[in-house]
Amino acid sequence: MSVVVPGEELGVAEAYMGGEGTYQRDGVICAKYVGVLEVSGRKVRIHKVKEHGIPAVGQLVLAEITGKNGIVVLTKVWGLWKSEKRIRVLKNPFTAALLQQESTGELNVSDIIIARVSSIVGKQILLDMPPGMKEIGIVWSMCGYCGTLRKRYGYSLVCNSCGRVDTAVRVSYYYGLQLKGGESEAEAIT
Ligand SMILES: [Zn+2]
Repeated sequence: MSVVVPGEELGVAEAYMGGEGTYQRDGVICAKYVGVLEVSGRKVRIHKVKEHGIPAVGQLVLAEITGKNGIVVLTKVWGLWKSEKRIRVLKNPFTAALLQQESTGELNVSDIIIARVSSIVGKQILLDMPPGMKEIGIVWSMCGYCGTLRKRYGYSLVCNSCGRVDTAVRVSYYYGLQLKGGESEAEAIT
């Protein structure tokens, strides 16, 4: 099974029929929310997934950057990272904050990252991105200028459309792979 993220292109509308959890944009069928992709014949749909609650301190999570205010980065945590083949997608994503610092690199709204839960105080959940862990970093990033999915070259992210190169980023070893490769297992509500 393959996990898809909002806005991800699933196929052209001429070839596929979009079902639950999809919408069309310029003749392309896209994912409306995070979930598990099902393709049967020409029909594509997205299954919502089970909730697994709030993770414990130390858990690696998948989160989308939703806002920035100075060095404070707001994220929406939507998945628990178990391994490159096991991602648990949360039915009810939650908000967590992160401080942008040297170990996080530059983070931008709409980036998807793997980060670690560093503390939970009441309803306040903080993430961090400690150095030395290959999982941690950006796993999915659109170019802030033209909206194209950026490619990784070494420790840089490059936009092949407008040519911008960003070296001030922390890129996960798993950049791009596990969200596109169709190898992820996630638990869907059927
Ligand atoms: Zn670009």
